Amino acid sequence: MAKSNSFRPGKHLLQVPGPTNIPDRVLRAMSFPTIDHRGPEFAEITKRILDKIRGIFKTTQPVIIFPGSGTGAWEAAIVNTLNPYDKVLMFETGQFSTLWAEQAKKFNLEVELVPGDWRTGADPKIVEKKLSEDKSHKIKAVFALHNETSTGVTSNIAKIRQAMDSAKHPALLMVDTISSLASIDYCHDDWKVDVTVCGSQKGLLLPPGLSFNAVSQKALEAYKRSTMQKSYWDWKPILTNNKDNAFPYTPPTNMFFGLDEAIDILNEEGLENVFKRHTRLAEATRVAVKAWGLEILAKNPEEYSNTITAVLLPPGHDSDNLRKIIYDEYNMSLGMGLNKVKGKVFRIGHLGDFNEIMLAGALAGVELGLRKAKIPHKAGGLMAAIDYLAK
Ligand SMILES: *Cc1c(COP(=O)(O)O)cnc(C)c1O
Repeated sequence: MAKSNSFRPGKHLLQVPGPTNIPDRVLRAMSFPTIDHRGPEFAEITKRILDKIRGIFKTTQPVIIFPGSGTGAWEAAIVNTLNPYDKVLMFETGQFSTLWAEQAKKFNLEVELVPGDWRTGADPKIVEKKLSEDKSHKIKAVFALHNETSTGVTSNIAKIRQAMDSAKHPALLMVDTISSLASIDYCHDDWKVDVTVCGSQKGLLLPPGLSFNAVSQKALEAYKRSTMQKSYWDWKPILTNNKDNAFPYTPPTNMFFGLDEAIDILNEEGLENVFKRHTRLAEATRVAVKAWGLEILAKNPEEYSNTITAVLLPPGHDSDNLRKIIYDEYNMSLGMGLNKVKGKVFRIGHLGDFNEIMLAGALAGVELGLRKAKIPHKAGGLMAAIDYLAK
Protein backbone atom coordinates (compact mmCIF):
# COMPACT_ATOMS: atom_id res chain seq x y z
CA MET A 1 0.00 0.00 0.00
CA ALA A 2 1.29 3.45 -0.88
CA LYS A 3 2.54 5.57 1.98
CA SER A 4 1.63 9.22 2.09
CA ASN A 5 5.27 10.24 1.70
CA SER A 6 6.04 8.00 -1.28
CA PHE A 7 5.92 8.91 -4.95
CA ARG A 8 2.61 8.14 -6.61
CA PRO A 9 2.96 7.54 -10.34
CA GLY A 10 0.44 8.99 -12.74
CA LYS A 11 -2.03 11.79 -12.18
CA HIS A 12 -4.18 11.99 -9.09
CA LEU A 13 -7.85 11.95 -10.15
CA LEU A 14 -9.66 14.54 -8.06
CA GLN A 15 -13.22 13.23 -8.30
CA VAL A 16 -14.63 14.92 -5.23
CA PRO A 17 -17.44 17.34 -6.11
CA GLY A 18 -15.15 20.29 -5.51
CA PRO A 19 -12.44 21.30 -5.54
CA THR A 20 -12.23 20.01 -9.10
CA ASN A 21 -9.43 19.35 -11.59
CA ILE A 22 -8.04 22.69 -12.79
CA PRO A 23 -7.19 23.22 -16.48
CA ASP A 24 -3.47 23.78 -17.09
CA ARG A 25 -4.30 27.04 -18.87
CA VAL A 26 -5.83 28.38 -15.64
CA LEU A 27 -2.87 27.21 -13.54
CA ARG A 28 -0.47 28.86 -15.97
CA ALA A 29 -2.45 32.10 -15.95
CA MET A 30 -2.28 32.12 -12.16
CA SER A 31 1.49 31.67 -12.15
CA PHE A 32 2.14 35.13 -13.64
CA PRO A 33 3.92 37.57 -11.29
CA THR A 34 1.61 39.38 -8.89
CA ILE A 35 0.94 42.94 -9.99
CA ASP A 36 -0.04 46.18 -8.28
CA HIS A 37 -3.73 45.83 -7.45
CA ARG A 38 -4.14 49.61 -7.71
CA GLY A 39 -2.30 49.93 -11.00
CA PRO A 40 -3.82 50.36 -14.47
CA GLU A 41 -3.21 46.78 -15.58
CA PHE A 42 -5.21 45.25 -12.74
CA ALA A 43 -8.00 47.80 -13.24
CA GLU A 44 -8.27 46.60 -16.82
CA ILE A 45 -8.47 42.97 -15.74
CA THR A 46 -11.12 43.86 -13.12
CA LYS A 47 -13.19 45.76 -15.67
CA ARG A 48 -13.07 42.81 -18.07
CA ILE A 49 -13.96 40.27 -15.39
CA LEU A 50 -16.81 42.28 -13.83
CA ASP A 51 -18.31 42.51 -17.29
CA LYS A 52 -17.90 38.95 -18.53
CA ILE A 53 -18.67 37.16 -15.25
CA ARG A 54 -22.30 38.27 -15.71
CA GLY A 55 -22.67 35.99 -18.70
CA ILE A 56 -21.87 32.99 -16.52
CA PHE A 57 -24.71 33.86 -14.11
CA LYS A 58 -26.95 34.84 -17.06
CA THR A 59 -27.47 38.27 -15.57
CA THR A 60 -27.07 41.92 -16.56
CA GLN A 61 -26.93 42.93 -12.88
CA PRO A 62 -23.88 43.32 -10.63
CA VAL A 63 -21.84 40.32 -9.56
CA ILE A 64 -19.91 40.94 -6.33
CA ILE A 65 -16.63 39.04 -5.96
CA PHE A 66 -15.19 38.23 -2.53
CA PRO A 67 -11.90 36.69 -1.53
CA GLY A 68 -13.36 33.85 0.52
CA SER A 69 -15.04 30.49 0.46
CA GLY A 70 -18.64 29.78 -0.47
CA THR A 71 -19.62 29.85 3.20
CA GLY A 72 -18.59 33.51 3.30
CA ALA A 73 -20.79 34.31 0.29
CA TRP A 74 -23.71 32.62 2.13
CA GLU A 75 -23.08 35.00 5.00
CA ALA A 76 -22.89 37.96 2.62
CA ALA A 77 -26.31 37.05 1.17
CA ILE A 78 -27.80 37.12 4.69
CA VAL A 79 -26.15 40.17 6.21
CA ASN A 80 -26.69 42.43 3.20
CA THR A 81 -30.43 41.86 2.76
CA LEU A 82 -32.09 40.76 6.02
CA ASN A 83 -32.75 41.99 9.54
CA PRO A 84 -32.34 40.15 12.84
CA TYR A 85 -35.45 38.10 13.73
CA ASP A 86 -36.68 38.00 10.13
CA LYS A 87 -38.42 34.76 9.29
CA VAL A 88 -36.92 32.75 6.41
CA LEU A 89 -37.98 29.54 4.69
CA MET A 90 -35.33 26.87 4.09
CA PHE A 91 -35.30 23.23 2.97
CA GLU A 92 -33.31 20.41 4.52
CA THR A 93 -32.06 18.80 1.32
CA GLY A 94 -28.74 17.63 2.79
CA GLN A 95 -25.60 18.76 4.58
CA PHE A 96 -25.06 22.09 2.83
CA SER A 97 -28.64 23.31 3.27
CA THR A 98 -28.39 22.27 6.94
CA LEU A 99 -25.19 24.30 7.35
CA TRP A 100 -26.72 27.37 5.69
CA ALA A 101 -29.71 27.09 8.03
CA GLU A 102 -27.39 26.86 11.05
CA GLN A 103 -25.54 29.93 9.84
CA ALA A 104 -28.85 31.80 9.44
CA LYS A 105 -29.77 30.97 13.05
CA LYS A 106 -26.48 32.45 14.24
CA PHE A 107 -27.64 35.74 12.72
CA ASN A 108 -30.85 35.44 14.76
CA LEU A 109 -33.02 34.70 11.77
CA GLU A 110 -36.16 32.73 12.56
CA VAL A 111 -35.57 29.72 10.34
CA GLU A 112 -38.45 27.56 9.25
CA LEU A 113 -36.57 24.49 8.02
CA VAL A 114 -38.76 22.13 6.01
CA PRO A 115 -37.47 18.67 6.96
CA GLY A 116 -36.24 16.41 4.18
CA ASP A 117 -35.09 12.84 3.57
CA TRP A 118 -31.71 13.83 1.99
CA ARG A 119 -32.88 12.19 -1.26
CA THR A 120 -35.13 14.87 -2.73
CA GLY A 121 -34.95 18.57 -3.55
CA ALA A 122 -36.83 21.62 -2.31
CA ASP A 123 -40.50 21.12 -3.19
CA PRO A 124 -42.05 24.07 -5.10
CA LYS A 125 -45.52 22.97 -3.88
CA ILE A 126 -44.43 23.47 -0.28
CA VAL A 127 -42.98 26.87 -1.21
CA GLU A 128 -46.34 27.89 -2.68
CA LYS A 129 -48.30 26.55 0.30
CA LYS A 130 -46.11 28.19 2.95
CA LEU A 131 -46.06 31.53 1.16
CA SER A 132 -49.80 31.50 0.43
CA GLU A 133 -50.48 30.88 4.12
CA ASP A 134 -48.18 33.73 5.10
CA LYS A 135 -50.74 36.51 4.57
CA SER A 136 -48.85 39.07 6.66
CA HIS A 137 -45.63 38.49 4.69
CA LYS A 138 -43.59 37.50 7.72
CA ILE A 139 -41.32 35.36 5.54
CA LYS A 140 -38.63 37.64 4.16
CA ALA A 141 -36.67 35.14 2.08
CA VAL A 142 -36.80 31.67 0.58
CA PHE A 143 -33.45 29.84 0.49
CA ALA A 144 -32.69 26.97 -1.87
CA LEU A 145 -29.70 25.06 -3.16
CA HIS A 146 -29.71 24.64 -6.92
CA ASN A 147 -27.55 21.56 -6.38
CA GLU A 148 -27.19 19.83 -3.00
CA THR A 149 -23.63 18.57 -3.22
CA SER A 150 -23.94 16.16 -0.29
CA THR A 151 -26.69 14.12 -1.96
CA GLY A 152 -26.49 14.78 -5.71
CA VAL A 153 -29.97 16.26 -5.85
CA THR A 154 -30.92 19.38 -7.80
CA SER A 155 -33.85 21.63 -6.95
CA ASN A 156 -35.93 23.19 -9.71
CA ILE A 157 -35.29 26.90 -9.17
CA ALA A 158 -37.50 28.01 -12.08
CA LYS A 159 -40.44 26.16 -10.47
CA ILE A 160 -39.66 27.62 -7.05
CA ARG A 161 -39.76 31.06 -8.66
CA GLN A 162 -43.14 30.22 -10.27
CA ALA A 163 -44.45 29.05 -6.90
CA MET A 164 -43.39 32.36 -5.30
CA ASP A 165 -45.07 34.30 -8.11
CA SER A 166 -48.26 32.22 -7.85
CA ALA A 167 -48.41 32.98 -4.12
CA LYS A 168 -47.88 36.69 -4.99
CA HIS A 169 -45.41 36.86 -2.13
CA PRO A 170 -42.63 39.49 -1.94
CA ALA A 171 -40.00 37.29 -0.22
CA LEU A 172 -36.48 37.40 -1.61
CA LEU A 173 -35.14 34.31 -3.37
CA MET A 174 -31.62 33.26 -2.32
CA VAL A 175 -29.98 30.46 -4.27
CA ASP A 176 -26.74 28.55 -3.68
CA THR A 177 -25.18 27.55 -7.01
CA ILE A 178 -21.77 26.62 -5.61
CA SER A 179 -21.71 23.18 -7.23
CA SER A 180 -23.86 23.94 -10.26
CA LEU A 181 -22.91 27.26 -11.83
CA ALA A 182 -21.13 26.80 -15.16
CA SER A 183 -22.07 23.10 -15.12
CA ILE A 184 -25.89 22.98 -14.96
CA ASP A 185 -27.99 25.62 -16.71
CA TYR A 186 -28.80 28.50 -14.37
CA CYS A 187 -30.52 31.84 -15.08
CA HIS A 188 -30.16 34.52 -12.39
CA ASP A 189 -32.25 37.09 -14.29
CA ASP A 190 -34.91 34.89 -15.92
CA TRP A 191 -35.64 33.11 -12.66
CA LYS A 192 -35.70 36.43 -10.80
CA VAL A 193 -33.25 35.26 -8.18
CA ASP A 194 -32.34 38.00 -5.70
CA VAL A 195 -29.01 36.71 -4.48
CA THR A 196 -27.11 33.93 -6.22
CA VAL A 197 -24.26 32.54 -4.16
CA CYS A 198 -21.30 30.82 -5.79
CA GLY A 199 -17.73 29.70 -5.10
CA SER A 200 -14.73 29.33 -7.39
CA GLN A 201 -13.65 25.73 -6.80
CA LYS A 202 -16.33 23.65 -8.49
CA GLY A 203 -17.73 24.34 -11.96
CA LEU A 204 -15.80 27.58 -12.34
CA LEU A 205 -12.51 25.74 -13.01
CA LEU A 206 -10.57 27.53 -10.28
CA PRO A 207 -8.95 26.59 -6.99
CA PRO A 208 -10.81 27.46 -3.77
CA GLY A 209 -10.54 31.10 -2.76
CA LEU A 210 -13.15 33.26 -4.48
CA SER A 211 -16.86 33.51 -3.86
CA PHE A 212 -19.67 35.47 -5.45
CA ASN A 213 -23.01 37.18 -4.91
CA ALA A 214 -24.99 37.99 -8.05
CA VAL A 215 -27.64 40.44 -6.91
CA SER A 216 -30.96 41.83 -8.16
CA GLN A 217 -32.34 45.38 -7.94
CA LYS A 218 -34.76 44.05 -5.32
CA ALA A 219 -31.83 42.73 -3.27
CA LEU A 220 -30.15 46.13 -3.53
CA GLU A 221 -33.36 47.75 -2.26
CA ALA A 222 -33.44 45.28 0.64
CA TYR A 223 -29.82 46.22 1.36
CA LYS A 224 -30.92 49.78 2.15
CA ARG A 225 -33.29 48.50 4.85
CA SER A 226 -30.99 45.82 6.25
CA THR A 227 -29.68 46.48 9.75
CA MET A 228 -27.53 43.34 10.08
CA GLN A 229 -23.98 44.06 11.26
CA LYS A 230 -21.59 43.81 8.34
CA SER A 231 -18.12 44.92 7.53
CA TYR A 232 -15.96 42.61 5.42
CA TRP A 233 -18.98 41.24 3.53
CA ASP A 234 -20.65 44.62 3.05
CA TRP A 235 -21.72 44.97 -0.60
CA LYS A 236 -21.64 48.77 -0.73
CA PRO A 237 -17.90 49.50 -0.47
CA ILE A 238 -17.28 46.81 -3.06
CA LEU A 239 -19.89 48.12 -5.50
CA THR A 240 -18.64 51.67 -5.00
CA ASN A 241 -15.02 50.69 -5.62
CA ASN A 242 -16.02 48.46 -8.54
CA LYS A 243 -17.28 51.58 -10.37
CA ASP A 244 -13.58 52.49 -10.67
CA ASN A 245 -12.61 48.87 -11.33
CA ALA A 246 -11.13 48.62 -7.85
CA PHE A 247 -11.79 46.91 -4.53
CA PRO A 248 -11.95 48.25 -0.96
CA TYR A 249 -9.22 45.82 0.10
CA THR A 250 -6.51 43.78 -1.60
CA PRO A 251 -8.15 41.37 -4.02
CA PRO A 252 -6.48 38.00 -4.68
CA THR A 253 -4.82 39.20 -7.87
CA ASN A 254 -3.60 35.82 -9.11
CA MET A 255 -7.03 34.25 -8.60
CA PHE A 256 -8.32 37.02 -10.86
CA PHE A 257 -5.79 36.02 -13.54
CA GLY A 258 -7.20 32.52 -13.25
CA LEU A 259 -10.82 33.69 -13.33
CA ASP A 260 -10.12 35.76 -16.44
CA GLU A 261 -8.79 32.65 -18.18
CA ALA A 262 -11.48 30.30 -16.79
CA ILE A 263 -14.33 32.45 -18.13
CA ASP A 264 -12.63 32.51 -21.56
CA ILE A 265 -12.33 28.72 -21.49
CA LEU A 266 -16.03 28.34 -20.63
CA ASN A 267 -16.98 30.73 -23.42
CA GLU A 268 -14.73 29.00 -25.95
CA GLU A 269 -16.54 25.72 -25.33
CA GLY A 270 -19.82 27.62 -25.10
CA LEU A 271 -21.92 27.49 -21.93
CA GLU A 272 -24.67 25.46 -23.57
CA ASN A 273 -22.08 22.88 -24.69
CA VAL A 274 -20.65 22.83 -21.18
CA PHE A 275 -24.12 21.96 -19.85
CA LYS A 276 -24.57 19.24 -22.50
CA ARG A 277 -21.20 17.71 -21.64
CA HIS A 278 -22.10 17.59 -17.95
CA THR A 279 -25.46 15.98 -18.77
CA ARG A 280 -23.81 13.33 -20.94
CA LEU A 281 -21.06 12.46 -18.44
CA ALA A 282 -23.53 12.42 -15.54
CA GLU A 283 -25.87 10.11 -17.44
CA ALA A 284 -22.95 7.78 -18.24
CA THR A 285 -22.09 7.73 -14.52
CA ARG A 286 -25.66 6.78 -13.63
CA VAL A 287 -25.65 4.06 -16.29
CA ALA A 288 -22.54 2.61 -14.63
CA VAL A 289 -24.03 2.76 -11.12
CA LYS A 290 -27.18 1.00 -12.29
CA ALA A 291 -25.15 -1.65 -14.10
CA TRP A 292 -23.24 -2.30 -10.86
CA GLY A 293 -26.65 -2.93 -9.30
CA LEU A 294 -26.07 -0.12 -6.80
CA GLU A 295 -28.55 2.53 -5.83
CA ILE A 296 -28.35 6.25 -6.59
CA LEU A 297 -29.15 8.31 -3.50
CA ALA A 298 -31.28 10.83 -5.44
CA LYS A 299 -34.82 9.45 -5.60
CA ASN A 300 -36.36 11.33 -8.51
CA PRO A 301 -34.72 11.08 -11.94
CA GLU A 302 -35.82 14.65 -12.76
CA GLU A 303 -33.75 15.78 -9.74
CA TYR A 304 -30.59 13.82 -10.62
CA SER A 305 -27.56 16.08 -10.37
CA ASN A 306 -25.39 16.47 -13.44
CA THR A 307 -22.34 17.40 -11.36
CA ILE A 308 -22.22 14.75 -8.63
CA THR A 309 -23.67 11.29 -8.10
CA ALA A 310 -24.03 9.89 -4.57
CA VAL A 311 -24.04 6.10 -4.55
CA LEU A 312 -25.51 4.02 -1.72
CA LEU A 313 -23.65 0.90 -0.66
CA PRO A 314 -25.52 -2.24 0.42
CA PRO A 315 -26.19 -2.23 4.20
CA GLY A 316 -23.22 -3.45 6.26
CA HIS A 317 -20.62 -2.00 3.88
CA ASP A 318 -18.63 1.10 4.77
CA SER A 319 -18.20 3.68 2.03
CA ASP A 320 -15.28 5.31 3.85
CA ASN A 321 -13.38 2.02 3.69
CA LEU A 322 -14.10 1.83 -0.05
CA ARG A 323 -12.89 5.40 -0.52
CA LYS A 324 -9.73 4.69 1.44
CA ILE A 325 -8.90 1.65 -0.70
CA ILE A 326 -9.48 3.64 -3.89
CA TYR A 327 -7.35 6.53 -2.61
CA ASP A 328 -4.49 4.35 -1.40
CA GLU A 329 -4.40 1.87 -4.28
CA TYR A 330 -5.56 3.86 -7.29
CA ASN A 331 -4.67 7.45 -6.44
CA MET A 332 -8.20 8.81 -6.79
CA SER A 333 -10.23 10.97 -4.41
CA LEU A 334 -13.97 10.41 -4.13
CA GLY A 335 -16.40 12.41 -2.00
CA MET A 336 -17.36 11.04 1.39
CA GLY A 337 -20.84 10.66 2.83
CA LEU A 338 -21.53 13.62 5.11
CA ASN A 339 -23.52 13.73 8.34
CA LYS A 340 -26.70 11.61 7.98
CA VAL A 341 -25.27 9.55 5.12
CA LYS A 342 -21.73 9.17 6.53
CA GLY A 343 -20.32 5.73 5.74
CA LYS A 344 -23.38 4.91 3.66
CA VAL A 345 -22.63 6.71 0.40
CA PHE A 346 -19.67 7.72 -1.68
CA ARG A 347 -19.86 10.57 -4.15
CA ILE A 348 -18.44 10.76 -7.64
CA GLY A 349 -17.79 14.33 -8.74
CA HIS A 350 -18.21 14.67 -12.53
CA LEU A 351 -17.88 18.38 -13.06
CA GLY A 352 -15.46 21.01 -14.23
CA ASP A 353 -12.53 20.26 -16.52
CA PHE A 354 -13.66 16.70 -17.20
CA ASN A 355 -14.14 14.49 -20.24
CA GLU A 356 -15.09 10.96 -21.34
CA ILE A 357 -11.66 9.44 -20.76
CA MET A 358 -11.34 10.96 -17.29
CA LEU A 359 -14.79 9.61 -16.48
CA ALA A 360 -13.79 6.17 -17.73
CA GLY A 361 -10.75 6.35 -15.46
CA ALA A 362 -12.88 7.38 -12.51
CA LEU A 363 -15.41 4.60 -13.11
CA ALA A 364 -12.59 2.07 -13.55
CA GLY A 365 -11.21 3.20 -10.18
CA VAL A 366 -14.60 2.72 -8.54
CA GLU A 367 -15.09 -0.70 -10.13
CA LEU A 368 -11.61 -1.83 -9.02
CA GLY A 369 -12.36 -0.53 -5.54
CA LEU A 370 -15.70 -2.33 -5.34
CA ARG A 371 -13.90 -5.61 -6.15
CA LYS A 372 -11.05 -4.99 -3.71
CA ALA A 373 -13.44 -4.03 -0.91
CA LYS A 374 -15.56 -7.11 -1.70
CA ILE A 375 -18.72 -5.09 -2.01
CA PRO A 376 -21.47 -7.09 -3.68
CA HIS A 377 -22.05 -5.67 -7.15
CA LYS A 378 -22.34 -6.76 -10.77
CA ALA A 379 -19.32 -6.33 -13.02
CA GLY A 380 -19.55 -4.16 -16.12
CA GLY A 381 -20.48 -0.69 -14.94
CA LEU A 382 -17.54 0.83 -16.78
CA MET A 383 -18.42 -1.07 -19.98
CA ALA A 384 -22.06 0.02 -19.74
CA ALA A 385 -20.91 3.64 -19.47
CA ILE A 386 -18.65 3.22 -22.52
CA ASP A 387 -21.56 1.69 -24.46
CA TYR A 388 -23.68 4.68 -23.49
CA LEU A 389 -21.00 7.22 -24.45
CA ALA A 390 -20.31 5.51 -27.79
CA LYS A 391 -23.95 5.64 -28.87
C1 LIG B 1 -18.95 23.33 -1.52
C2 LIG B 1 -20.27 23.86 -1.18
C3 LIG B 1 -20.47 24.79 -0.16
C4 LIG B 1 -19.36 25.24 0.74
O1 LIG B 1 -18.46 26.03 0.08
P1 LIG B 1 -17.06 26.38 0.78
O2 LIG B 1 -16.30 27.04 -0.31
O3 LIG B 1 -16.49 25.09 1.26
O4 LIG B 1 -17.35 27.31 1.92
C5 LIG B 1 -21.74 25.29 0.05
N1 LIG B 1 -22.78 24.88 -0.70
C6 LIG B 1 -22.63 23.97 -1.68
C7 LIG B 1 -23.82 23.56 -2.47
C8 LIG B 1 -21.39 23.44 -1.94
O5 LIG B 1 -21.25 22.52 -2.92
